[in-house]
Amino acid sequence: MKIGVYGGAFNPPHLGHITAARAVSGLLKLDKLLIIPTGHPPHKILPPGSPTPEQRLEMTRLAMEQTGLGDKAEVLDLELRREGSSYTADTLACLKEKYPEDELWLLMGTDMFLTFHTWHEPERILASAGIAAFGRTEADTEELFSIQRDFLCRRHPQARIFTLSIPGVVDVSSTELRERLARGEGGGLLAPAVYGYILREKLYGTAADLKNLPLEQLRPVALSCLNHRRIPHVLGTEQEAVRLAERWGADADKARRAALLHDCTKKLNLPEQLALAERFQVPLDEMERREIKLLHAKTGAGVAEAVFGTDGEITDAIRWHTTGRGNMTLLEKVIYLADYIEPNRDFPGVEELRRACYEDLDAGLLLGLEMTIGEMEGRNAPIHPKTLEARDALKGQRE
Ligand code: FE
Ligand code: FE
Repeated sequence: MKIGVYGGAFNPPHLGHITAARAVSGLLKLDKLLIIPTGHPPHKILPPGSPTPEQRLEMTRLAMEQTGLGDKAEVLDLELRREGSSYTADTLACLKEKYPEDELWLLMGTDMFLTFHTWHEPERILASAGIAAFGRTEADTEELFSIQRDFLCRRHPQARIFTLSIPGVVDVSSTELRERLARGEGGGLLAPAVYGYILREKLYGTAADLKNLPLEQLRPVALSCLNHRRIPHVLGTEQEAVRLAERWGADADKARRAALLHDCTKKLNLPEQLALAERFQVPLDEMERREIKLLHAKTGAGVAEAVFGTDGEITDAIRWHTTGRGNMTLLEKVIYLADYIEPNRDFPGVEELRRACYEDLDAGLLLGLEMTIGEMEGRNAPIHPKTLEARDALKGQRE
């Protein structure tokens, strides 16, 4: 296997890192990319608002999910866990033990490459890995690289060095980015989920009021709560919810907010969900206690209200998005159906359901509920009483 090793402070990980990881993986045809946030030297005093090692690890994970490398990319905490100074030579020795048969390539940007000879034990590093240096800007010319490459190759005849320039790379300095974040700028240089995480955790001097987030901030914050595979679904639900709200005269802003937050606890496991329910005193029935599919709507409503300050209407729309209930409000119907028919959904009958939702909202809702009930019956799965109640109430109304 060809394995890339990409270390960095990732403080914070930004679009430049994501682009580099993706491009180098492609150009070197890597089978795997290990991303390793470096530990801070113990004596170094960090400015206030600096992330903890765990927070840097989480941000790096959120960022690397956006490389599109999937399982090929793996974020490791081995340097964060190590006491004292962390040397690349030691990290590579560790990895060499884990991957004795594989070819390691150390990824680094221009600055790192040009100062490589001053690192701790460059000889040991070059003995265990090749170097893949990439130019971050158009100005990092081959001229600059070739001088250093020749110098290193003369000094270390066994060195394997590969230099490449990455077209379209985003040139961002982390120092500058941190300053911009403190001034309320710079969000566009980060993956949305990373920016949302920074706002949520109030890092780098950001001071977002989570209970009164403008939409442009609520969106990344909501995305930062999701498993990355669910991001398209939530954005699709937002889009569909606005369309339905406009069609049927519901409040489009509330529809957006409810859609963005509707699955905000879905990635948590059952014990985590139950702990949240306890914390926000969410009443649960027996079925909800057992099933994340039901539980996340209740805990999501709890978090939306307590953390993000949603009003009763939005909170209820989140609370009932999975089961529905008798006599649903307009916003509840919009969110229930947007979640059901958003553009990423693909199941037999979805087109018919979409049509119904835009012709007659209640007819769409009834059809949706009946499809759910039919599917549950087909699987011999228990049906939540609120779902039956929702269907019966609608049927009664329409007879
Ligand atoms: Fe959901
Ligand atoms: Fe959903």
